[in-house]
Amino acid sequence: MSYVFNRDTRADMPIVVRGDGIWIEDSTGKRYIDASGGAAVSCLGHSHQRVIDAVREQVGKIAFAHTGAFSSEPAEALAEAVVTSAPGRMAKALFVSGGSEASEAAIKLARQYHVERGEPGRHRIIARRQSYHGNTLGALSASGNMARRALYQPYMQDWSHIAPCYPYRGRSHDETEEEYGLRVADELETEIERVGAETVSAFILEPVVGATLGAVAAVPGYLARVREICDRHGVLLIFDEVMCGMGRTGTLFASEHDGVVADIYTAAKGLGAGYQAIGAVIASEKVYGAIHDGSGFFQHGHTYMGHPVACAAALAVQTAIREEGLLGRVQAGGAKLRTMLEERFGNDAHVGEIRGRGYFLAMELVADRATKQPFDPSLAIHNRVKKAAMDLGLICYPMGGVIDGKSGDHVLVAPPFITSDDELAEIVSRVGQAVDRAIASTR
Ligand code: PMP
Repeated sequence: MSYVFNRDTRADMPIVVRGDGIWIEDSTGKRYIDASGGAAVSCLGHSHQRVIDAVREQVGKIAFAHTGAFSSEPAEALAEAVVTSAPGRMAKALFVSGGSEASEAAIKLARQYHVERGEPGRHRIIARRQSYHGNTLGALSASGNMARRALYQPYMQDWSHIAPCYPYRGRSHDETEEEYGLRVADELETEIERVGAETVSAFILEPVVGATLGAVAAVPGYLARVREICDRHGVLLIFDEVMCGMGRTGTLFASEHDGVVADIYTAAKGLGAGYQAIGAVIASEKVYGAIHDGSGFFQHGHTYMGHPVACAAALAVQTAIREEGLLGRVQAGGAKLRTMLEERFGNDAHVGEIRGRGYFLAMELVADRATKQPFDPSLAIHNRVKKAAMDLGLICYPMGGVIDGKSGDHVLVAPPFITSDDELAEIVSRVGQAVDRAIASTR
């Protein structure tokens, strides 16, 4: 392997050559079900003709023109589509090349909003432990994923991390879900007061946590309380919908489910569905208004922002989601998939919880279901599941390791929106075999 800086861990990595629907094929002819779209990327599956045609057509017309001089038809049409479909009163969108760039831009936009309004002291980001907002330095500073931060600790900003909303492990026996949600939301207010509201720029969170926890949605009331606290202290609210957004949970924006509106949204993975590298930052009228009425210019940019081919691909993805009724399929298919997982794993001694929304579902794997004791991290159960799954011709998204002494291993299942019922059954069967093999391999 010559394109990654790894010595030998990837030496036996298959070489992908083609894909079709939910299937991926490697250079040996082995076929895999793509049951996680990578990391919740390939929402339309592979080789979707509408998107291929849109990309071809745009490359044929004009692939690139610098955004310092030109906008483009696909960028304008995509901005219109995402701004009008986002919750609340959104004003504008900016397109970048992925999720980390989207987080960076959102963090900077929040800062500029405050500076434009005469509050230059507001620079601090508050995020949550066990969160992931990207690997670039600003996004990683916001991320509470300690494993990914450790090496770069000297580069990290002095920002704040509060508890995530993670009822499986956080809720105590004597409180309801709602009480728990309000208790952890109130940690935001405590932290704002501790550091001084006049220093806080924004609170960033994933409405449904993806990679670090495995499809953990906020409990009812949590996001509303967070919104209230942000408003009370003049702090902006950023919803990182890079992984959970763009239809993955059955609504275009995952946070629609909670009926709470952010000041800034980010999106990426499902936005381009893997056909092109693209991320988005969507600014509300409130946030954009401060720039409009102030300097008039967002002090940020990249060469490839608003890339015409990436925008054309994402626009075709949005059109496919709408015209092919895919949100409805995610809702119905997600309910079926959940039932199938519950039937297969409901009594499994090593499955602590099955959770998530739509086609964004996960199982937390535990050594002991009664005590919720995680597996010993040295067993790296998630890696064993991944290996067993690949052997079985299944791509799912196992993640894990104990972070903060709490979270354990989990397996994310995030199939393409076009998955058929038979394919769902095959996915569950293969996930079952992979988990059984992984656990058996520890004995
Ligand atoms: N935010 C979230 C919620 C993510 O899940 C990810 C990627 N896993 C990112 C940001 C970073 O996105 P990218 O890898 O495209 O830079």
